[in-house]
Amino acid sequence: SGKLLIPRVAVIGLGLIGCSWIKGLRVRGCLEEVRGYDRNLDSMQLALSEGLIDAYSENIADVVRDADLIIISVPIMAVKSVLEAVRDHISETAVLTDVGSVKGAVASDVAAILGANFSRFVLGHPIAGSEKSGVMAANEHLYVHHKVIITPQDHTDKNALALVRSAWQAVGADLEHMSVDHHDEVLAATSHLPHLLAYSLVDTLANSHENKEIFNYAAGGFRDFTRIAASSPVMWRDIFAANKDHLLKTLDLFSHDLSSLRAAVEQGDATTLMGVLTRAKAARDHFS
Ligand code: NAD
Repeated sequence: SGKLLIPRVAVIGLGLIGCSWIKGLRVRGCLEEVRGYDRNLDSMQLALSEGLIDAYSENIADVVRDADLIIISVPIMAVKSVLEAVRDHISETAVLTDVGSVKGAVASDVAAILGANFSRFVLGHPIAGSEKSGVMAANEHLYVHHKVIITPQDHTDKNALALVRSAWQAVGADLEHMSVDHHDEVLAATSHLPHLLAYSLVDTLANSHENKEIFNYAAGGFRDFTRIAASSPVMWRDIFAANKDHLLKTLDLFSHDLSSLRAAVEQGDATTLMGVLTRAKAARDHFS
């Protein structure tokens, strides 16, 4: 059980999540050679000058060829085109993994492009991140004591799974396994709905002239509740589209409860208001 050492890693998508992972592996001495690809040339040059990667190419085939581990860290809707571009250039032992926030959509793309029984793709999702994006947001401590959810499938290769698990454990992550569908259902409620609501609230307030001045008094609640509305629009557009069914279900539940709360406010129904607020506070106090 020596220290993890992966000879050749390829990172496709040089943003916050992918760069934080390789930075964490790199500072812990787990990587020999890292190659990077991003559709944005500036990101590749920056990742090189920051020492996160040793080489890049505008030809994705050159980046994945001979790689032992290929990390795909692009917005969900870009995964398909990446898989199409790498399919004919990966080695017969290469392990692939992703970090996408929705697993069902990525699982379908992998099945469609690499084959329904392709066993060396390990689906993963780190429950860590921030509203920042890009190479310069990379943080080698990002995953320490954070959960990473792996959603293995029946056909997932044991050795591929073990390699990806080791690469997350090496950067301090706590691993959990879940089914693809359960992951997407849980994350719709705990992450995707809150982001949708934050974007919606900020947009509503920004568009209402009377309330423009509220941004001058945006301490406290507004700041806490809406920090996540500064996240990458492309990333979240893709997540909302890719997890449509689960998101609509949890959104409908929320809309229903919000209507009840509206009615309670309108009717001056103090008992109902106290009930909702007390239950919510108790639930929120329960975790820190
Ligand atoms: P990011 O914007 O920092 O980085 C994404 C990178 O992918 C960018 O450099 C972009 O140029 C590149 N890219 C886009 N399309 C591409 C393509 N077709 N080919 C090559 N490169 C392409 O975003 P991020 O936060 O690193 O997110 C990456 C993935 O991680 C997303 O799938 C997201 O769902 C997932 N994720 C994000 C967070 C978070 O909090 N940011 C948390 C967990 C998982």
